[in-house]
Amino acid sequence: MKKILLLTTGGTIASRLTDEGLAPGLDGAALSHYLRGLADSYDLTVRDILHLDSSNIQPEEWRLIARHVFEARNGFDGIVVSHGTDTMAYTASVLSYMVRNIPVPVVLTGAQLPIEHPLTDGLDNLRTAFAMAACGRPGVFLAFDRRVMLGCRAVKTHTTAFGAFDSVNWPLVAQVNGAGLTLREEAIPPLDGPCVLRDKLCQAVFLIKLTPGLDPEIFDMLLRMHYRGVVIEAFGAGGLHFIRRNLIEKLHAAAQAGMAVVVCSQCLYESSNFALYQAGQKALAQGVIQGYDMTTEAAVTKLMWALGQTEDPEEVRALFARSLAGERSV
Ligand code: ASP
Repeated sequence: MKKILLLTTGGTIASRLTDEGLAPGLDGAALSHYLRGLADSYDLTVRDILHLDSSNIQPEEWRLIARHVFEARNGFDGIVVSHGTDTMAYTASVLSYMVRNIPVPVVLTGAQLPIEHPLTDGLDNLRTAFAMAACGRPGVFLAFDRRVMLGCRAVKTHTTAFGAFDSVNWPLVAQVNGAGLTLREEAIPPLDGPCVLRDKLCQAVFLIKLTPGLDPEIFDMLLRMHYRGVVIEAFGAGGLHFIRRNLIEKLHAAAQAGMAVVVCSQCLYESSNFALYQAGQKALAQGVIQGYDMTTEAAVTKLMWALGQTEDPEEVRALFARSLAGERSV
């Protein structure tokens, strides 16, 4: 039997109705009650590491989860992390960098309905996650609605539907069908070195969703607040306004101050290309880093992680030029 570790962190899957609405109330032992069927198929160890709605999962919690995952990498065939869905894509992305080249499958999952609900999707999601965790393909994945995706390509796209996540700009890694867990091997990036825990992060990263006419002075405020990195979700394939309100000159000031600026698109699908339009090329001339087809979750966490590894802007640029865990197409 495959040895699987279940790390529980809370989320809807472990929630109960309280006077203030749903809140995580079930621990791993209570979850295990519902996992009886799975416990016959796997050698299961359960560890409760957090009891949080994932809205409360922040960089401190990412580090804790990463450490548990890293320390368990040699003792188990696979690791499942139960987690709230709201920020699961951020956690999956940041883990992809923090425990890069992890030699076993690490599979995040959760549910739209608590495990105690008679119509819960949680059991199905756990079954898929356990099957992926036992399949021997290393990497960080997210399992939901009988589909498995690369962690750094997942985006939460639905608030209540069971198919809550999409794999953006990357094929599914696996699906459950009549043949069982059906893997798509070419969608799983190969390991390219030993696994080292790199959990240092810079939290001074801000995300700007560009709106028509956004006041460029936002950059002055961010510099005053000592932000070291900004991700800009720009328009379409890549453009920022420079008439009347000139964002381009603020990009120049940001670069002079040593701030790393990553630009990507508000469009969920396909790649940005700031070389296409004048309104994008002017930004590139100020030294912004292109995010291409990365999700916002993958770009923001990669910038936090990259700035945690180095203070050298050229090294940050070099990290973004590569795909570390399949987060961007090269
Ligand atoms: N608010 C919940 C959470 O993210 C939602 C869920 O788990 O589906 O923790």
